[in-house]
Amino acid sequence: MKYDVLILGGGPAGLAAALYAKRAGVSVLVLERSIYGGQVTNTPTVENYPGILNISGVDLAMALYEQVTGLGIEVRLEEPVSYQLDAPAKAVATARGLYEAKAVIVANGVKRRTLGCPGEERLAGRGVSYCATCDGAFFQGAEVAIVGGGNTALEDALFLSNNCAAVHLIHRRDQFRGSSILAEAVKKRQNIHLHLNSVVEEITGEEKVAGARLRDVTTGEETRLELSGVFVAVGLAPDNAAFAGQLALDGAGYIQAGEDCRTNLAGVFAAGDTRTKEVRQIITAAADGAVAALGAANYVNSLE
Ligand code: NAP
Repeated sequence: MKYDVLILGGGPAGLAAALYAKRAGVSVLVLERSIYGGQVTNTPTVENYPGILNISGVDLAMALYEQVTGLGIEVRLEEPVSYQLDAPAKAVATARGLYEAKAVIVANGVKRRTLGCPGEERLAGRGVSYCATCDGAFFQGAEVAIVGGGNTALEDALFLSNNCAAVHLIHRRDQFRGSSILAEAVKKRQNIHLHLNSVVEEITGEEKVAGARLRDVTTGEETRLELSGVFVAVGLAPDNAAFAGQLALDGAGYIQAGEDCRTNLAGVFAAGDTRTKEVRQIITAAADGAVAALGAANYVNSLE
């Protein structure tokens, strides 16, 4: 199947790109490998998207998806298995078929980081979770921990504290990376207990999570918490190993592309969290989608 523009990823960057590419008059296919909306679906509440006072991440993802499919844009839930980006005719293969395009927009987002401590992998899905929005309801009235100091950890701590008996927020430094407005809200919640300058040495439990062993990085002192759940929110990492050798990546593994979203390859653009950038937010991902789509449409038109 041949398209003008093939978009890899159905998060805010990819879906915004689809919207703009369609409106620019080129044919478009979006391939998403797991869930429409990307990381947004892990966010309980979005309150910083201009013009929208308050919306859940899942509802925002659904609205984006419906807006795109409502325009007749084809969106397929398929995982790419191989890429040919460094030739004039681009091609992406999935288990179901081969998709060819004149231009490609890589909007594959990022993946979640893990703690790497003993017990984490073994107890994943058995009390260890990476998504408070998805799994929080299983811990009604329970005592849980959340690890991290960014906006995700702060938002998740607030979200979990609505239904859990107690939430232990464990962060490796004494300053939060997340916004001060969220940090202040967290400090005011009676049932959120802060463990600053602390790291998780081990998540304990046989069949399911029973607790965690923490170490204070300043004193070396160890403490143990009895817990039913441990939520890990220690940030995101690029997921671009499959493009190495074709697309230029920066030292951290993000696709090298500036504000124009152009990569080292003609006709290949990178949009959203996947590219080198300072601010990774929904609005900057959506903005990238628009820029990349118009760049790709111009590129396609220049071939004719
Ligand atoms: P993040 O901002 O990168 O924060 C990750 C946190 O995890 C940091 O506090 C970091 O500690 C800690 N950390 C990293 N590796 C660790 C490890 N191995 N062990 C223990 N702690 C570790 O990630 P995020 O909170 O997922 O947010 C990702 C992006 O989405 C950010 O740009 C964020 O602003 C954005 N976001 C925005 C909103 C919003 O605006 N409402 C909501 C959610 C996410 P250090 O601080 O010491 O580095």
